[in-house]
Amino acid sequence: MAEPATALVWFKRDLRLRDHAPLVEAARFERALALVLIEPAWLDSPECHPRHVAYLLACLAPLREALAARGLPLLVRVGEAVPVLEALRRMHGLSHLLSHEETGPGWSYTRDKAVAAWCRTQGVAWLEWPQTGVVRRLRSRSGWAAQWARRMQAPPLPRSAGWAGVPDLLPEPLPTLGDLGLSGPGPTLPPAGEAAAWAGLGSFLQGRAAGYRRALSSPLSAETGCSRLSEHLAFGTVSMRCVFQATERARQATPDAALARDLTSFGARLRWHCHFMQKLEDEPAVEWRNFSRAHDGLRPGDAGCEAPWRQELFEAWCEGRTGYPMVDACMRQLRATGWLNFRMRAMLVSFAAYHLWLHWRAPGLFLARQFLDFEPGIHWSQMQMQSGTTGINTLRIYSPAKQAAEHDPEGRYRRRWLPEWGTPAYPAPVVEEATVLAHAKTVLYGLRQQAPARAEAQAIQARHGSRRSGLPPSGRRRGRAPVPSPSQMTFW
Ligand SMILES: Cc1cc2nc3c(=O)[nH]c(=O)nc-3n(C[C@H](O)[C@H](O)[C@H](O)COP(=O)(O)OP(=O)(O)OC[C@H]3O[C@@H](n4cnc5c(N)ncnc54)[C@H](O)[C@@H]3O)c2cc1C
Repeated sequence: MAEPATALVWFKRDLRLRDHAPLVEAARFERALALVLIEPAWLDSPECHPRHVAYLLACLAPLREALAARGLPLLVRVGEAVPVLEALRRMHGLSHLLSHEETGPGWSYTRDKAVAAWCRTQGVAWLEWPQTGVVRRLRSRSGWAAQWARRMQAPPLPRSAGWAGVPDLLPEPLPTLGDLGLSGPGPTLPPAGEAAAWAGLGSFLQGRAAGYRRALSSPLSAETGCSRLSEHLAFGTVSMRCVFQATERARQATPDAALARDLTSFGARLRWHCHFMQKLEDEPAVEWRNFSRAHDGLRPGDAGCEAPWRQELFEAWCEGRTGYPMVDACMRQLRATGWLNFRMRAMLVSFAAYHLWLHWRAPGLFLARQFLDFEPGIHWSQMQMQSGTTGINTLRIYSPAKQAAEHDPEGRYRRRWLPEWGTPAYPAPVVEEATVLAHAKTVLYGLRQQAPARAEAQAIQARHGSRRSGLPPSGRRRGRAPVPSPSQMTFW
């Protein structure tokens, strides 16, 4: 007798039930299983911090319960993908592997290639669906924004009522951090899981979004004035499409023109999320090397640079003791909470790149471990953009003193995160600003004037640069040009 068709839903960064294509597909099979993998390649990667693992486990607890209530036991395995999949195939006779596409770091790309090869050898059909606006094998950036808009406007998938699980198979217990050889994540984690994502979205759209544009820049107001959805989007506890559509409904329903503009601004950032991820999808090497090869070897830490790496400066930056109070306060907040608003993230990177003249890779790995919402495509693109190595973006050098004056004029933020500020225990500045910035500007502006850098910039713009928003006129600011993409904006 032929084996029944058995589908395995492989959960990756999509830890939810709603708007989940692999789960919808699995309901059509005679038997279904669900798997989450905790891979040593991830645990050992230089981007992974115990806070990420703790947050994953916190997302899995409600997911496991919700799946079990609908007949689908969640299997939890610690191991590399191919051996785990092979063991499951032998035990349950898998015919199909169902998952979302992932735009991850190099190790996940290598793993996906190994899984694809295993599927071919074993005759397992691997079906993958996009879950953001990222387009696989994109031929041209022209038209990308329209594709993004089409995906975001398509109806979300209904939640499946139930699945035909494998008889006698029970959901498996979740490991603890200790089981995985890790110690506590340090900071208190924000609420995790699908219900928490929807609660966060609701509280933003129904209240906190008012004044969003004003609240974005100061680390004091951003803490509650931003959506705080980034970790939910990174772990996939809510789909980008559901967030986008809820935002659009709120925007269309409100009679308040200022709130409508706040929501338009927020919606544009959802597109930026995918815009930046698309860069890594199209050119995975930007995780390691400069978008603009004309910028290779510029700073210590980059291959080809002969100047020595300044470990003492790097450590002062990582530990929040550079002697620049706004920089140090931001680093302390980030280390303590796993989150920081956009402008202050950009300032931290700008400081590492221009004041300390460090190549972006080591600071980027350090920040990846700190950001609970680490999303490789956004992260590495932003690291390079804020370090001036994309070749196409305006150079933005943030002055910590100016940021402090504008966004923490009374010093409340600095006093909160840097209690030793203003006491003899606080260190003197590790570099003299005027001197180091004069050097940085001379080198970078000089380089950008050279013919090879200019020619290369055109090619980078054609491959990665943003185009039009792709939204119909109702989704744009009325009577004004569409919200510009980050590559056209200056945040001074
Ligand atoms: C050096 C650097 C590294 C960054 N690394 C990450 C990262 O690993 N993961 C991450 O999600 N964001 C990253 N960002 C972008 C941004 O800082 C965060 O998305 C934002 O602070 C998250 O808070 P929020 O959800 O409250 O944001 P909101 O202001 O409420 O924005 C809503 C959503 O839009 C997206 N978004 C907002 N700003 C940007 C942006 N500039 N680029 C791309 N998407 C954006 C995010 O998905 C965010 O959750 C980085 C920024 C910089 C400068």
